[in-house]
Amino acid sequence: VAKGFRDVRNRFEGKREITEENIDDALKDIRMAMLEADVNFRIAKKFIKQVKEKAIGEVVKVKAKANEKVEVTPGDHFVKICHDELEGLLGPVDTSIVFSNPRLGPTKIMMVGLQGSGKTTTTGKLAKYLMEREGKRPLLVGADVYRPAAIEQLRQLAERIDVPVHAREGADPVEVCKEALKIAEDKDRDIILFDTAGRLAVDDVLMEELEQIIDTTKPENIFLVADAMIGQDAVNTAKEFNDRLEVDGFIMTKLDGDARGGAALSIKEVTGKPIKFIGVGEKLDDLEEFRPEGLANRILGFGDVMGLMDRFERTLSDEEAQRAEKDAMRMLSGEFDFNDFYNQLEQISKMGSMSELMEMMPFFGGGLPDDVAVDDSELGKIRAIIQSMTDKEKTNPDLLTKQPNRVRRIAKGSGSEQEKVEQVIQQFNMMRGMMQQFSNMGGGFLNKIPGF
Ligand code: GDP
Ligand code: MG
Repeated sequence: VAKGFRDVRNRFEGKREITEENIDDALKDIRMAMLEADVNFRIAKKFIKQVKEKAIGEVVKVKAKANEKVEVTPGDHFVKICHDELEGLLGPVDTSIVFSNPRLGPTKIMMVGLQGSGKTTTTGKLAKYLMEREGKRPLLVGADVYRPAAIEQLRQLAERIDVPVHAREGADPVEVCKEALKIAEDKDRDIILFDTAGRLAVDDVLMEELEQIIDTTKPENIFLVADAMIGQDAVNTAKEFNDRLEVDGFIMTKLDGDARGGAALSIKEVTGKPIKFIGVGEKLDDLEEFRPEGLANRILGFGDVMGLMDRFERTLSDEEAQRAEKDAMRMLSGEFDFNDFYNQLEQISKMGSMSELMEMMPFFGGGLPDDVAVDDSELGKIRAIIQSMTDKEKTNPDLLTKQPNRVRRIAKGSGSEQEKVEQVIQQFNMMRGMMQQFSNMGGGFLNKIPGF
């Protein structure tokens, strides 16, 4: 079974085109990945069919940034089709919240979902988000009146963001919600968040109660909160809630855990409602507007291949990007000197941990020997060593091979041990070797990444 996009790509090794005959293994990988990510099997099946139809027979040319024509391998293409299709199914992005006309009273948001799904926590998170992003003044309503602890939990959250709570233990939740409309006006609050009760499973009594709250308060937004950890079951729950209450969107919580979030795709498919936000932790700031591409890769088990490209783009300024592109083109033709080496290390150190990065780079085979670890102090030493080289040495690195005199001079100039200088030269040779190997492979997918 494939582990990540690398393996999936490799299913097409040596193939010029995606065909009915050579696509099967890759499709099996994708199907497996989706099932492991908790995607409903019917939806996985439908997805596979879709990808197959799109992929077969396609030969694509994409333009690299420097306007060079680069041919994408069938494996690259397959990965991209899977990703794009899934991103499409998870989208379109709709993180909107419907706000009422302020003259007609406050906006109302109602949170519904099973017990433990994260309603109360998300109520607090969303209130904070609305204060910070929209300059709103929220009122929180504890409509989970059956469990005193639930109201206490809401009060504690509210205190941390300094917003009022309306709740009455043991009271009729419909009444409590109705009272809140008036209280919001008295307290000059322009948005009300109703934290409702949940059950361990969907039941009629709960649904009736929620329906009554809806009739009484007419919320502009009903958000279903679903726990990513409950996997496949989330789909049925979402369907039941949506059939009864006609929700406006859902919020998937606990995506910071192991769950790969396939349930989100199933919920989206079954209800047709957008994913509005995702919960990525227990803290009040751990709420994000939903963006499909990250989740698409997570579901496919591709790791962060697209995120990697993003990071390259974010790391490089325009000017740097242009220079890096030129360098990349040169390096792809097999040239690689000490200036390149230093630039590469610098780029890499800006982007995060080296080992994390190498893990994502197919042509390093998922890892680099430990002795090429780079942190800022290490980078400083390497910089000093390279600066102590003559220009000739920098551009003709072979001048340094087995040249103790030069090594000694560089060590002195940079204030390092000779061993350290030799180590850097060795690392350089190793990286150059990899660059040349990669260049011989003809690039493919990675030609598009500036700097590599
Ligand atoms: P409710 O019963 O639906 O109101 O659920 P709660 O808001 O009380 O949340 C249940 C548990 O899940 C609590 O321990 C929360 O801290 C936790 N929780 C909620 N959202 C998230 C999340 O996005 N990530 C993680 N790791 N925990 C969460
Ligand atoms: Mg609760």
